[in-house]
Amino acid sequence: MTTRYKPAETVAFMREQVARYPELEVFNNNLSQPEKLYLRDPDLCCNNLKVVPTKQAIEEMDVDCWVTGLRCTEGRTRTDFQEIEERDVGLIKLNPILLWHEREVWQYLAIHQVAVNPLYEQGYRSLGCAPCTSISTGPDERAGRWVGTSKCGGECGIHTRPLKVGLPR
Ligand code: SF4
Repeated sequence: MTTRYKPAETVAFMREQVARYPELEVFNNNLSQPEKLYLRDPDLCCNNLKVVPTKQAIEEMDVDCWVTGLRCTEGRTRTDFQEIEERDVGLIKLNPILLWHEREVWQYLAIHQVAVNPLYEQGYRSLGCAPCTSISTGPDERAGRWVGTSKCGGECGIHTRPLKVGLPR
């Protein structure tokens, strides 16, 4: 899933990975919405641009199980996830690196020489859309997300809102 507001570096990295792994499919919501909606209602903006296309992906690909990179130490909103859970009936979520710390992620990536988004070289630790992402330096990796809003350090909704509700079975 991507949005119209992703940084240029993220878009370029995504295109490289899709070219390398052509089985990847990217979902996006191109429907119009008020200009700079993220400034006055980031929850609605995230719902439109992130949650809706994630629901669409689950529906179109008929997904019953998905694997995520959620980790408990990323921030205040990620402390109560389980490694295997079914918050959404009919949609199992596997979180295999849930207990990893940030350092362990970088160790794994270095050992296995995994390509990463070049924005990490600039000091970013949690990447989202350009208007809603800053560099964080404290213990909370996600503290740079939605800075200055009630959503600061929070969630876009794809891990907290029902994704299968209303979908045909
Ligand atoms: S992260 Fe910001 S720009 Fe991106 S969808 Fe959410 S509110 Fe909109």
